[in-house]
Amino acid sequence: MNGQERALKTINLEIPDRVPVDLHAFTLAARDSGRPFGEFFHSAELMAEAQIALWRRFGHDVILLENGTTATAEALGCTVVYPDNAPAKVTEPSLKRLSDVGSLRQCEPEKDATLPALLHTTRLVKQEIGKEVFVMGRADQGPFSLAAMLRGINNFLMDLAYGTEREKIHQLLDFTTEAVIRLALAQLEAGADATSIGDSLAGPSLISRDMYLEYAFPYEKRVVEAVQKAGGLIALHICGDTTLIVDKMVETGAQIVEIDERTNLATAKTYARGKCCLLGQVSPTALSHESAATVTELAKKTIDTAGDGGGLILGPGCAMAADTPDENVHALVQAAKTYGTYRR
Ligand SMILES: [Zn+2]
Repeated sequence: MNGQERALKTINLEIPDRVPVDLHAFTLAARDSGRPFGEFFHSAELMAEAQIALWRRFGHDVILLENGTTATAEALGCTVVYPDNAPAKVTEPSLKRLSDVGSLRQCEPEKDATLPALLHTTRLVKQEIGKEVFVMGRADQGPFSLAAMLRGINNFLMDLAYGTEREKIHQLLDFTTEAVIRLALAQLEAGADATSIGDSLAGPSLISRDMYLEYAFPYEKRVVEAVQKAGGLIALHICGDTTLIVDKMVETGAQIVEIDERTNLATAKTYARGKCCLLGQVSPTALSHESAATVTELAKKTIDTAGDGGGLILGPGCAMAADTPDENVHALVQAAKTYGTYRR
């Protein structure tokens, strides 16, 4: 059974030979290229080559392709800077006044900013190793996080707190949802086995459950439904401790729900069992700073808590740091082989 078959069986909630492993490794790929990160994240050839090299080195089952968190924001008019050794950042939001929401121009994924490079990376990786490995092409940020980037995070949180322009907020979220759907469908068309969204800012570390229910959940659900209508698979990622909303994350219908290290995994498993596959939750900090033995322990704990009955892809709880040592990545992959085998 190869990585692609293993991941597909797991996502279909069948029992594969063992737990599959995913790496969330776009900064490792950038580091390995030896190029300034900005140049790397604009080049499909460099990104594909580095991701394929990582796969040959570590033998993981699932490759997550992304180029940071700003691709769609830039395509929608935000100013983005590209430091040489770190992921890109939005420095200037595109929507100065919420009342201007009607003047935003929708993105075209095959034309705007780095979206064409991102999509072409998917095509290149699929062409080269796509029969052996499961390729998740990220559709960048989810609707809530993208709206926050277009408005500026602080401005957006103020908009939500005042709550006086709810109609405009929802109009903005309608707009970002459409942008996310366009990119998600383009990823599937580029050949991705699944797409995924990171609605990083929609978690309880930033907004309440009630706010999540009004401003994030319905829009995430709309993206999931659009992907499923096209016959596709999608993962939903939210950063931080999502224990308070993980029931609703499952309820979006996403076939994969990504679990941050801070979330109570047993609770997540209770909601996910029989409904969706979980992905996580080994600490990226431990992966970059602790020993291989600690990584093995954390991976084993994840498998023990969430591997029962299938429905688990082992992986980092969030993006891995560029300084993650190879031996820790090997330990993560090896843990699935040693402790993730299903007995029949
Ligand atoms: Zn995260």
